[in-house]
Amino acid sequence: MYQEAFLQNFERYCEEQILPKVSDYEQQQGMDRQLVRELGQLGFLAPNLPKEYGGIALPAPEYGEFIRTCGATYNSLRELITVHAALVGESIVRWGVDHQKQRYLSDLASGETLAAFALSEPEVGSDANAVQTTYAVKSDGFELNGVKKWISFAGIADLFLVFARNAENDAEVSAFLVDRNTEGIHVDPIKNMMASRASHLGIITFSAVKLGKQSVLGRLGSGFNCIANTALDHGRHCVAWGSVGVAQAALQQMVNYSRRRKQFGQKICQLEPVQRLISDSVIEYQAAWAMCKAVAEKRQNKHLDATVETSMAKVFCARVATTVSEHAVQVFGAKGISEDYAVSRLFKEAKSLEVIEGTAQVLQNMVALHALHTFYDKNWKEA
Ligand SMILES: Cc1cc2nc3c(=O)[nH]c(=O)nc-3n(C[C@H](O)[C@H](O)[C@H](O)COP(=O)(O)OP(=O)(O)OC[C@H]3O[C@@H](n4cnc5c(N)ncnc54)[C@H](O)[C@@H]3O)c2cc1C
Repeated sequence: MYQEAFLQNFERYCEEQILPKVSDYEQQQGMDRQLVRELGQLGFLAPNLPKEYGGIALPAPEYGEFIRTCGATYNSLRELITVHAALVGESIVRWGVDHQKQRYLSDLASGETLAAFALSEPEVGSDANAVQTTYAVKSDGFELNGVKKWISFAGIADLFLVFARNAENDAEVSAFLVDRNTEGIHVDPIKNMMASRASHLGIITFSAVKLGKQSVLGRLGSGFNCIANTALDHGRHCVAWGSVGVAQAALQQMVNYSRRRKQFGQKICQLEPVQRLISDSVIEYQAAWAMCKAVAEKRQNKHLDATVETSMAKVFCARVATTVSEHAVQVFGAKGISEDYAVSRLFKEAKSLEVIEGTAQVLQNMVALHALHTFYDKNWKEA
């Protein structure tokens, strides 16, 4: 009951406080740092975190619905929650030692600290285990050198979760919690993105950055297999639900517009080809939403297939978001091509969802390997 009221409050907040400001955020290419604090004060920044650290420990299905609302409202809002609360927050919960949890988690929930996830680099994308940023082991800690690129909220984040390779042991990738104010860190903004325009994307350069021993998250050497992989799994869950939100927003736009717009003396919603676009969209949207609900249940119950099915949902739902928002653009005609209308933004945002947190192609590889194993019958006969 409490969770239901929480979700309703959040929906109202998004409708009244965020949606009216979306075009401003798009134009100024950023959201105010103050908004992060406000979200934190209202409990909307990291509701997935445990109660003892100021979260409300939303179970996966309700957390999913929360993210769906973010996606339906504004993709940069969804992205903020994904990197801050899911990619970094969940990583500290899962892999942090006590003093790291005490130091960071309450501040992440309240918005006092904003976190970013720094894995990708100029030459390293899908093959994330190949990071070239290095750390050298020193007597009193580590020295970090390298460049991270495409990092959401790098422009305003206070804390970076950084992945780097041991300069003397190529096989070892580790994760570090790095305060932005540490000497040797420089951030350059990335502007004019097609989507995520308000997500403060940036390039972070680390030049001989000195880190204490307590900055390592998890074990040395567990950076990719344990920390990055589990973080990205949480991220994919968010992107899948956020995609359902984008599809929902696009569907609402196309329905409302088609019921108002008249051509050939009738409302365009009465024309069979337009109805076809709407019916295809609603079927795909419902399928995507149902898939997310099923996956969230499996995640909540720690089902063995939860991770691979999360990847399937991410691939499917992002694709659905693209298809449905493309249909919305079509129904809007010339207005759909104009940046003054939400559907063109939704379409571009949807496309970006097929790239982030593992591209569709890379995840399809993983899903195919799973299917080749799961559906294999060694007694099968060709006949
Ligand atoms: C809006 C936005 C926000 C982002 N935020 C962050 C962030 O906060 N932190 C962060 O670390 N990164 C972030 N990224 C980077 C993102 O994670 C990468 O873009 C993504 O991992 C893909 O890497 P790439 O762009 O280098 O593409 P590449 O890996 O170079 O891929 C290029 C093409 O090759 C295909 N391809 C690559 N490998 C394979 C394969 N094995 N099989 C089949 N096809 C393959 C891909 O599918 C793609 O079509 C962000 C990106 C965007 C666009």
